[in-house]
Amino acid sequence: MAIRYLLFDLDETLYRRDAGVMQAISQLIRQYIVERYGLTYEEADALARRYHAQYGTSMRGLLLHNNLDPDDFLAYVHNFPLEDKLSPDPALDAMLASLPGTKVIFTNADRRHAERVLERLGVRHHFSQIIDVTAVDYISKPNPQAYRLCLQRLGARPEECVMIEDSGRNLAPAAALGITTVLVDGGPEETADYRIEDILALPAVIQDICRQRSCT
Ligand SMILES: [Mg+2]
Repeated sequence: MAIRYLLFDLDETLYRRDAGVMQAISQLIRQYIVERYGLTYEEADALARRYHAQYGTSMRGLLLHNNLDPDDFLAYVHNFPLEDKLSPDPALDAMLASLPGTKVIFTNADRRHAERVLERLGVRHHFSQIIDVTAVDYISKPNPQAYRLCLQRLGARPEECVMIEDSGRNLAPAAALGITTVLVDGGPEETADYRIEDILALPAVIQDICRQRSCT
């Protein structure tokens, strides 16, 4: 079956880890738990870490166990300036323009954050859809149900999709469904069908996939 969809993770996939965006979000997650649940910073940090390890995101744990208002949380943890962390990226823009297929963002963040990041990088126009965590009923990656809902929203079959992500943990359920996986800047213990160090190396991988599978 031909490849029709390229599913991109957003944070630390479309820009480098050292940008400091996830560090800012991580800090605000802890601050949120301190403010809304009355924990000390150390307790909030321990809880966020435990939920992240167990569920893939702190938000998922807070939803399951702490009666979280997810929209309040998402607005709070993404409320910081991006301008000093990200810059317009013409190389990324050109790289995305060279790729076949329908490009989609599949992110554990919310749409507002995704729009801001894409606008700042100057690549918003490449993506026909943003599947955010609210679009998959607040079920975060790596819960397999998030991927099923994402495919359902797109009307796509797993065999038609390539997923590009910086987290091997988030790629594993995609691979199990039959999605072709590309790991960006992964650790040595993480696995995927393809591995690249930098997102700008993606076209060679997509060309290889298209040679074997054909792309539309
Ligand atoms: Mg990421």
